[in-house]
Amino acid sequence: MNVLVLNCGSSSVKFQLIATDLDLIAKNADRRLARGVIERVGSEALVSFAVEGGAKLRTAEPLRDHRAAIDRILRWVVSPEAKVPGVSSLADIQAVGHRVVHGGEKFTKCVVIDSEVLDGIEDTIELAPLHNPANIKGILAARELLGPGVPQCAVFDTSFHSTLPETAYLYALPYQLYRRYKLRRYGFHGTSYRYVAYRYRQLAGLKPKDVNVVALHLGNGASACAIKGGASVDTSMGLTPLEGLVMGTRGGDIDPSIIEFLHDREGLTLDQIDTLLNKQSGLLGVSGLTNDMRELLEEERENGDRRARLAIDMFCARARKYIGAYLAAMGGADAVVFTGGIGENSAEVRGRILKGLEWMGLSLDAARNKAMTAGKEGEVSAPGSRLKAWVIPTNEELLIARDAVRAVKGAPRRW
Ligand code: ADP
Repeated sequence: MNVLVLNCGSSSVKFQLIATDLDLIAKNADRRLARGVIERVGSEALVSFAVEGGAKLRTAEPLRDHRAAIDRILRWVVSPEAKVPGVSSLADIQAVGHRVVHGGEKFTKCVVIDSEVLDGIEDTIELAPLHNPANIKGILAARELLGPGVPQCAVFDTSFHSTLPETAYLYALPYQLYRRYKLRRYGFHGTSYRYVAYRYRQLAGLKPKDVNVVALHLGNGASACAIKGGASVDTSMGLTPLEGLVMGTRGGDIDPSIIEFLHDREGLTLDQIDTLLNKQSGLLGVSGLTNDMRELLEEERENGDRRARLAIDMFCARARKYIGAYLAAMGGADAVVFTGGIGENSAEVRGRILKGLEWMGLSLDAARNKAMTAGKEGEVSAPGSRLKAWVIPTNEELLIARDAVRAVKGAPRRW
């Protein structure tokens, strides 16, 4: 089956086309055929598409909305110029898998989308006002463009965390707020953590229930997850992705009374404070320069910029603090696993996060750590290190495509 994986953001659409099926999954022989991204949907959009080992397209063109963007993707992947192997008409796309940000308490695994599921995703809009509306637009557009005969599935970023115990998912607020609104920690990056747990057990030769790791997804958004017995038992993002680690433009954990302080002293409205916390804080807010870790590292290295260094140090210190907290909460783990753009590529940041953890049995192998970039996967701790460190590049799209195949074929989801 060829599965179109769609990740619709508020002003972007990312896609991958993946050839997979139950037998290919069993042989780990599924493969990506094409991928791409459209940014700035709604104005002069930036289009960047590529066929695996083949044609590429880079243009800027007006694309009004998500429907126009998905239409552009579909027209390109079936076009003679793209030459995607085995794909020459829309009939060659047999299923769609959508990354949906918030599944609330209702969706704990991948589901085939019908009107009841769509209603359920709409119900979670109040929990994810920034994200779920775009996902719904993508689902409706794909249904219109491909027809109701092509099954569409939803894979939720929150699902992997449905195993959190009450002690981890409840906020210590009046309990009736949880009852009334389902106000609780949900956690995000779930598909990424599920992939990391799956891949780690493959590489380390373990059974799913023997996976005990602290995983760090460090990208523009960043979070940590305690995975015990193969299941998520704690995670740093909360009701929304704002909580936890220092991120590109989000500050993570803060004292909630800062909100009232900002309102009183700076005269900011709630909307303005929301923007400050989501878009102007984190690496960008502290450095005053950029939210991009690679640029900050360069600035620090070449110009010795003090605030660039401070931002990176705060990012690393917060991540280290979460590693310590989760190891204590889990009663120890076998490894710390890094993923996401920063976690996969920056030996420098990994080294700074893990610095000083030798006392608890983690020693990094400097050469291995340095060599582990650009999509490589493997161990970066020194031989004999009691607590190991690994790098595993994430692949959420692959899991979404596999989940979609299993959901469509009624096969149980495994990982
Ligand atoms: P998103 O959360 O938007 O998916 P990514 O996972 O792609 O983000 O991560 C983006 C971050 O990864 C950026 O801060 C970028 O600077 C950082 N990054 C990518 N490559 C490197 C590198 N070689 N060294 C340091 N940081 C890197």
